[in-house]
Amino acid sequence: MDDRCCVYECGKKAKEKDKYCSMHRARLRRTGSLNKKTPFDRMMKRIVLKEKWNLMSCWEYIGYVNKLGYGRLRANGKKVLAHRLSWKEHRGEIPKGLLVLHKCDNSCCVNPWHLFLGTQQDSIDDMVKKGRNRKGKDHHCYGKFGKEHPAHKSNRIAS
Ligand SMILES: [Zn+2]
Ligand SMILES: [Zn+2]
Repeated sequence: MDDRCCVYECGKKAKEKDKYCSMHRARLRRTGSLNKKTPFDRMMKRIVLKEKWNLMSCWEYIGYVNKLGYGRLRANGKKVLAHRLSWKEHRGEIPKGLLVLHKCDNSCCVNPWHLFLGTQQDSIDDMVKKGRNRKGKDHHCYGKFGKEHPAHKSNRIAS
């Protein structure tokens, strides 16, 4: 009889002695957990509070930001927007045809309490109302830290 990895829905071959496949065994050893880090976990690791200790301030996503200022990351091979990911995780599914918009007008913010659902038209109205400048390039957002942020490439130690 074949020994299969005991992780749910894995089904890979396991060595009898520990009942994990080589991939799960390696992950357990490396991370101490059998669960893969979700895109949400990765996103939450890249957040800085705009106002220190104030959980209700903007949660700025530090990392790749597209030309509209939205944080972006990869999830299961797809590009996803950080604020949409945050909404789904904290508030639930995004109904078809609706967008996740920012109350705080800080595009790289992923604080679920600063987000709301709206239509494309709401988004345009909101943009006009706030006089938002939508011109820009893809860049990295370093929040209030700017170039002082440890992740900024000018602060990386050359190897
Ligand atoms: Zn496995
Ligand atoms: Zn915000």
